[in-house]
Amino acid sequence: MKRAAKAAGVGLPSALIADLRAATSPDRVRVDPLERAIYGRDASLCVGDEPAVVVFPVTPEEVAEVVRACNRHGRPFVARGSGTGLAGNAVPLGEPVVIVTTKLNKVLSVDAGERVAWVQPGVLNLDLSRHTAALGLHYAPDPSSQQVCTIGGNVATNSGGPHCLAYGVTNAHVLALKVVLPDGSLAQLGGLDPEPAGYDLRGVFVGSEGMLGIATEIAVRLMPDPPEVATLLLDFMDVSAGASTVSDVIAGGLVPAAMEMMDANAVKVVEAFVHAGYPTDAAAVLLVECEGLPAGVKASVDLITETGQRNGARTVRLAADDVERDLLWKGRKAAFGAVARLAPDYYLHDTVVPRTRLVEVLEKVYEISARHNLTVVNVFHAGDGNLHPLLAFDSRTEGVMDSVHAAGEEIVLASLAAGGVLSGEHGIGIEKRDLMGHLFSQADLAAQDRLRACFDPDGLANPSKVLPSPSGCGDLRPQVKVPAGAWV
Ligand SMILES: Cc1cc2nc3c(=O)[nH]c(=O)nc-3n(C[C@H](O)[C@H](O)[C@H](O)COP(=O)(O)OP(=O)(O)OC[C@H]3O[C@@H](n4cnc5c(N)ncnc54)[C@H](O)[C@@H]3O)c2cc1C
Repeated sequence: MKRAAKAAGVGLPSALIADLRAATSPDRVRVDPLERAIYGRDASLCVGDEPAVVVFPVTPEEVAEVVRACNRHGRPFVARGSGTGLAGNAVPLGEPVVIVTTKLNKVLSVDAGERVAWVQPGVLNLDLSRHTAALGLHYAPDPSSQQVCTIGGNVATNSGGPHCLAYGVTNAHVLALKVVLPDGSLAQLGGLDPEPAGYDLRGVFVGSEGMLGIATEIAVRLMPDPPEVATLLLDFMDVSAGASTVSDVIAGGLVPAAMEMMDANAVKVVEAFVHAGYPTDAAAVLLVECEGLPAGVKASVDLITETGQRNGARTVRLAADDVERDLLWKGRKAAFGAVARLAPDYYLHDTVVPRTRLVEVLEKVYEISARHNLTVVNVFHAGDGNLHPLLAFDSRTEGVMDSVHAAGEEIVLASLAAGGVLSGEHGIGIEKRDLMGHLFSQADLAAQDRLRACFDPDGLANPSKVLPSPSGCGDLRPQVKVPAGAWV
């Protein structure tokens, strides 16, 4: 009923829409029901409300004007990049204005000497490295979604990727941010100096999931392309041998650029998709990359080979050239998409456990999935203990969603019980908001909420994400209620 009225244009906030049109241009303020429905979802299974309006600013000034209009009308707003978030981070709650940043997509400047680029938030992650390739520079954080996700979204979720093992996640690569604060004012957080004065508000903003304002310009660190790269594929007849290799290599004093693991289900489904020569009878494969000066890379390859063989690696394959390397990586990076060969839907989890407890938690993941009658595929950043159990299912099967969510919650709690944390890289969003109390005390949560309130006293920026409600600590502001059936 509500939806039908909205579809006919009844009940839309016409005064707000007029202000947004004046702040941008009429063709970039969208109220069409289909568009509102599309921008009501991200890549997760989370369902919230439809946005009241979707706006596409093209300059930071327009972003600020849009935010000011939202303030005048007391209307929440949600920043959105490409919508590839996997925790419902950009899923609207409370019928907000969705502010899409994808048209702010310019690389503004590149200082090759200082290895710094200023970019707009809608620049796609991989496009930045393509832009700087001729200079022998690249942007190191490489989420598997890097062909489509935005740098703004990466900043807001503090994204990781395979090569973050050696180089650190997004936070280590963001030097400064120009932001529109939730009241519509402009501020710069951080700076290009090695040690900017004052509190590290840049660090506070990175990973804040759109709740402290909207980044409109981002200064990122660029890395020199390594002179030598070696990519190895090791395969094992049991998962624990692969996991022990990961621990032993790092304990041996070597942190490779990347250490990614795939279990038997993942290898089978990926190989059928990319034909990279992954051994489909293996219990696990380990993809390891070393980079640096040639002598160092050779020593690293020798150490990894020897450690893998000591742990029972059946074969150790060294990519002969860039073509083979790209093919091996294509398998890893396309793994989530390849799961469509198993089932039409998947639910991807993201927890971190101490590396030494990887095998124990993986065994628990297999047990939980089997008990709920679900297929699980494991593709994960083994080097930093970041698990990605992926439950494959067909949502048309009656009752399957209850199993998927029950299994998912058990997997998260098993990771916490092993000394892990709720998320390695996808963030909290709506998905894990109500699990925050398992990791943080009431005092911790209240401290986080007070910080948020300093930026956003009226609670307009991406409301009702990350911090659970009710907290019991008395001073959390009311949250928008997650609608019943907030999952598909
Ligand atoms: C197949 C697949 C693979 C993935 N692999 C990885 C991976 O390896 N590593 C990883 O970390 N993630 C991964 N992700 C998750 C996702 O791609 C990342 O979280 C990414 O950073 C989201 O970027 P986005 O542009 O899509 O942001 P969105 O999903 O649009 O938004 C994400 C959050 O950022 C906020 N936001 C967006 N732009 C801004 C801005 N300018 N200012 C302030 N807040 C903003 C939004 O409000 C929201 O809270 C994967 C997703 C998919 C679908």
